[in-house]
Amino acid sequence: MRTAIGLDIGGTKVSGGVLDEEGRILVRTRRDTPDRSNAPRVVEDTLVEVVDELLAMAEEDGIDRPLTVGIGAAGFVAADRSTVVFAPHLSWRDEPLRESLGCRIDLPITIENDANAALWAEHRFGAAAGASHAVMITLGTGIGGAILVEGALVRGRYGIAGEFGHMQVVPGGQRCECGNRGCWEQYSSGNALVREAKGLAMAHSPMATDLLAHVGGDVSRLTGPAITDIARCGDATAIELLAEIGHWLGVGLANLAAALDPEVFVIGGGVSAAGDLLLGPARETFARQLTGRGYRPAARITAARFGPDAGLIGAASLGAREGNSPR
Ligand SMILES: [Zn+2]
Repeated sequence: MRTAIGLDIGGTKVSGGVLDEEGRILVRTRRDTPDRSNAPRVVEDTLVEVVDELLAMAEEDGIDRPLTVGIGAAGFVAADRSTVVFAPHLSWRDEPLRESLGCRIDLPITIENDANAALWAEHRFGAAAGASHAVMITLGTGIGGAILVEGALVRGRYGIAGEFGHMQVVPGGQRCECGNRGCWEQYSSGNALVREAKGLAMAHSPMATDLLAHVGGDVSRLTGPAITDIARCGDATAIELLAEIGHWLGVGLANLAAALDPEVFVIGGGVSAAGDLLLGPARETFARQLTGRGYRPAARITAARFGPDAGLIGAASLGAREGNSPR
């Protein structure tokens, strides 16, 4: 049995696992992500530690020795997949990660943007299996994205394709941390959900009375997962807040369909845990705004199969695919 190591470097955790060819995680471990005050070397140390630990765990459990390492990272990965151009949560700026890790890990290493890795996992083993044209949207604090065309990831000339979150959907709208206004992720993301819920609560709207009661009157406890839980219990305001996020999701998906014409949109990330409370309104708006509606097949909009493990699974699979083939 061929096995591969997958690593996923997120904003708070580095997750690692040894996976088989079917994308199953055989053993796993995790560390806190060193924050951006640490030198790049400290993050590398963490990655080397995780790989060493996984190799030891595999040996102990009698699992075949992994032959490759695939790394998914939140950030811009250059199209040659050897350099992390920019990682918002880390001190990496033009970090030649493959080269620096290559001196310390004696296995072929592949690096991939985390959203690309997640789409690859869904394409190989999950919600986009069998689809040759797919678009992944990860709704977390912001929006991440990835594109699959004719069975291959589209990374763009500089590796930065799929940053859909910063497409403008509202001219002159909400200010975004990227410096522009009206970006999609300001309307359809975990941050947008929390901002709107808190806005209602701070305005002392009677609509927020029940919502606030669920969190003991403490506005700071209105997190994305809390609002989703409250909506699941039937709270009309929480349901409406999620529907609004879903509506804006549908607006963006209709735009993306006009540009990319995929067969399926896979919606992942923390906010997607809301399921049809989010996807139902997204499908309605999508159907109303799709270019050529009524005269063309429409893409499916579906929840991701893999939750927080998508990046890890996809990174391992991509690493095995690239690392096992002659360069
Ligand atoms: Zn922006």
